[in-house]
Amino acid sequence: MPSRSGTRRKASRRAILKSALAGIATLAAPPVLGQAKAHVIVIGGGFAGATCARRLKAADGTIAVTLVEPNARFTACPFSNAVIAGLRPIEAQYFGYDGVKQAGVDIAGQIVVAIEAEARQVHFADGARLDYQRLVLAPGIDIRFDALPGYDQTAAEIMPHAWKAGAQTLLLRRQLEAMADGGVVVLSAPANPFRCPPGPYERASLIAYYLKTKKPRSKLILLDAKDTFSKQRLFEAAWKTLYPGLIEWVPLSGGGRVIEIDAKTRTLVTEFGSHLADVANVIPPQRAGAVAIAAGVADQTGWCPIDPHTFESKLVPNIHVIGDAAIAGAMPKSAFAANAQAKVCADMIASLIRGEDPREVKLINTCYSLVAPDYGISVAGVYAPRDGLLTEIKEAGGVSPLEAPAAQREAEATYAQAWFQTITREVFG
Ligand SMILES: Cc1cc2nc3c(=O)[nH]c(=O)nc-3n(C[C@H](O)[C@H](O)[C@H](O)COP(=O)(O)OP(=O)(O)OC[C@H]3O[C@@H](n4cnc5c(N)ncnc54)[C@H](O)[C@@H]3O)c2cc1C
Repeated sequence: MPSRSGTRRKASRRAILKSALAGIATLAAPPVLGQAKAHVIVIGGGFAGATCARRLKAADGTIAVTLVEPNARFTACPFSNAVIAGLRPIEAQYFGYDGVKQAGVDIAGQIVVAIEAEARQVHFADGARLDYQRLVLAPGIDIRFDALPGYDQTAAEIMPHAWKAGAQTLLLRRQLEAMADGGVVVLSAPANPFRCPPGPYERASLIAYYLKTKKPRSKLILLDAKDTFSKQRLFEAAWKTLYPGLIEWVPLSGGGRVIEIDAKTRTLVTEFGSHLADVANVIPPQRAGAVAIAAGVADQTGWCPIDPHTFESKLVPNIHVIGDAAIAGAMPKSAFAANAQAKVCADMIASLIRGEDPREVKLINTCYSLVAPDYGISVAGVYAPRDGLLTEIKEAGGVSPLEAPAAQREAEATYAQAWFQTITREVFG
């Protein structure tokens, strides 16, 4: 049973939200410290933001938590490469927010357009405002449409990036289906850092699986702005066995960096020449979601430096940044990492609100990749704050063995599925 004051607090929060959602500019009263009442706003209902909002309520039920997310339905990127390869329906990627609501989080179906850090206030697209004591930014990535000449939003409708799951995923899927047998698929991968370091190589693998089984005279060229990539030896060994002669990886030193795009002719231009594609998947450079830039928490790299203990911005106080938008040192930009960071950040915010000192933390990441439906590989790492960054603890992680029986690869493909079910149930269920 909630206390009388607890009920009143809930009612007043609802009133604030209701008027915010109704588009009425609202100035909420600042939280009164000492009465155990604080308001935390979390922007972005993805793996990082939805986890953080739920964990805050679990850590301290007296904290009022508002999750701001414009979409009623989240579309997950992990396993979206399997959608592109025709191995899974897009519906399997959709998740709603009922579970988050039931956990006691208020949901504002809004988009945040501005943040006034000094006033501790967020501004919604419809003109409404909401006060916070602490703010968590978890907006994920935005594509840098200014970074690759010729690649703008119109070009992305012809040569999809499919690096935000949804319409772009389906567009690439349809293009592969429409391509004639014997066609050339060209995929381009960006320089570090970017969302999901093994993602382009998993995508190349699963597209190769589709081509091998449905359009065997076709070919895939993977143009890369790097000379090395995540789980490289494992991917290359698997490609040799599963897709001999089908995938051509062109590294940076071999002229793999794409410097220009001509969408009209579906051409990717590199320093060494041009590649004409029947289907082109351009994965361009990225940066933190626009709201992080607007809040002033991103530096010149386009990403957000944070204190590795609390995830508080190094640039703006009382704002924390988690997930892909953050510069998390050696931690990769993954859903697993976003979820781990969100839990630590939520616990730290609850401690800070109670006036306690931050604790020592360790964070884990594991990234599974499918090379074929029954062939999985993984990399795992453990991270801790050191010298102002999250650094990898040596000898604590590892990758799948290079030599392994088929049964082990099959088991890892099953673990990948189980991981996705577990994380999505925990975050959205
Ligand atoms: C093809 C592909 C495969 C992947 N596979 C894996 C995998 O196997 N394992 C793994 O761990 N990771 C994987 N990833 C990476 C993973 O998807 C991301 O690292 C993860 O989604 C990051 O979580 P996030 O919460 O930071 O961002 P997101 O999950 O993108 O969530 C950001 C949310 O913020 C919202 N938002 C943005 N701006 C605003 C605003 N102004 N106001 C309100 N809301 C806003 C967005 O609508 C969105 O819902 C993959 C990625 C890709 C592209």
